Amino acid sequence: MNYPDVKLFVGGQWCSAVAGRSIDVSDPASEERIGGVAHAGIADLIRALEAAESGFAVWREISAFERSKLMRRAAELLRSRVDTIAPLMTLEQGKPLAEARTETLAAADTIDWFAEEARRTYGWIVPARTAGVQQSAIKEPVGPVAAFTPWNFPINQIVRKLSAALAAGCSIIVKGPEETPASPAELIRCFVDAGLPAGVVNLVYGDPAEISDYLIRNPVIRKISFTGSTPVGKHLAALAGSQMKRATMELGGHAPAIICDDADLDAAASVLAAAKFRNAGQVCVAPTRFLVQDGVYRPFLEMLVEEARARKVGSGLDPATTMGPLANARRLQAMEDLVGDATRHGAAIATGGRRIGNKGHFFEPTVIADVPLAARVMSEEPFGPLAIVSRFSELEEAIAEANRLPYGLAAYAYTRSTGRTSALASKVESGMLTVNHNGIGLPEVPFGGVKDSGYGTEGGREAVEPYLVTKLVSLA
Ligand code: NAD
Repeated sequence: MNYPDVKLFVGGQWCSAVAGRSIDVSDPASEERIGGVAHAGIADLIRALEAAESGFAVWREISAFERSKLMRRAAELLRSRVDTIAPLMTLEQGKPLAEARTETLAAADTIDWFAEEARRTYGWIVPARTAGVQQSAIKEPVGPVAAFTPWNFPINQIVRKLSAALAAGCSIIVKGPEETPASPAELIRCFVDAGLPAGVVNLVYGDPAEISDYLIRNPVIRKISFTGSTPVGKHLAALAGSQMKRATMELGGHAPAIICDDADLDAAASVLAAAKFRNAGQVCVAPTRFLVQDGVYRPFLEMLVEEARARKVGSGLDPATTMGPLANARRLQAMEDLVGDATRHGAAIATGGRRIGNKGHFFEPTVIADVPLAARVMSEEPFGPLAIVSRFSELEEAIAEANRLPYGLAAYAYTRSTGRTSALASKVESGMLTVNHNGIGLPEVPFGGVKDSGYGTEGGREAVEPYLVTKLVSLA
């Protein structure tokens, strides 16, 4: 398959970087170079900012009705191109082709959903104290947006920010993932081919720290949205704060999955294993700390081990593969370090725990039991195919463990008891809780975290709001 040399998209043109620099892109399954991506410098960022400013002037004047129609056209193009886009994503990111297809098609649904929301950015009328006065609260787009997105879901991470911005009437500069640049470029191409005016969307790649620093400080940019790790998120949030700019932060997690002794264990094991090993565990909402009640601890552990062993690890392009390689060498190293540290702390490796082969970033689906709290993996987000299984006696203990960490993104639970469900719903500190199924990530439901997992939501009816400002117009 041909992997393209990926260009920047600035001011309606696909272009190389002004200085001619580029970054190598490699296939995580083979570690071979497959292509390159243009590396933007300051000169390119200046052009992108000019484009975003003029694009905003054009886009904000286009009615929500027309914006919505254009977005729907882009969604249709994305669906029609899934057979070419999904293999590019698999090649650059590693995930199985079926997952790349699902991500691409889900992105089209996300665009459609935001296209519908575009037409519902209502203001309101406030009853006046004085006859003849009319007070309206109207919604306006906040202005050009800078979005920074990671490599784990190359399309999905961009599409939420891009669609919300476009729905609101904002222009946007996306700093895409340098390690997985081709599928995001194809997403942007769908909007271009749908007729998006020049400058409304701009796509750059380069040195993330240089780009974020330059864009966030620039007065043209009025809103920041970042998905990535908590330390980087705190840095960017502080920078945005120093410039009095709004920010949405989707950061790390370390999700608890609480399995009570009255749970449907078959469903719990199969649904949670699918959520754990999807995308080789490189998912911010992946269940990580499996907290299992005494009476079902052994059988659940055995079922989870069986699920892990049933995964077929290999190249994502092989149709038989159900778990691909890790996306980069950093994750492979992190898995080896975390497992080594847990073992030194006395944890038992129930299955997996090792790299597979010596070419490609393959790691075994891993289940670790009896991990002491002092082990790093109990507190650090593994962001890989590691499940940690611990036991509890009373539900309160499991809730305390769930809330122990500064993270608060996703939480999972399995129980048939309404009393336990309502205790979990009120006491677990997380932005999302899903009980007896996996209900996280649909465009129409909220998506976001609390505590160190960030703030703001990228799903649900409030997801366009961060891209809007409310203006009072009082007329006499
Ligand atoms: P990292 O912390 O260096 O980078 C994480 C992401 O932030 C990358 O996309 C990177 O390009 C970007 N980034 C880094 N510094 C930046 C800056 N100064 N300005 C703008 N963007 C910046 O680590 P990594 O090795 O790429 O990923 C590892 C960790 O990142 C994981 O352990 C996980 O915690 C987190 N992560 C989270 C998500 C998520 O979906 N929330 C996605 C990818 C990575």
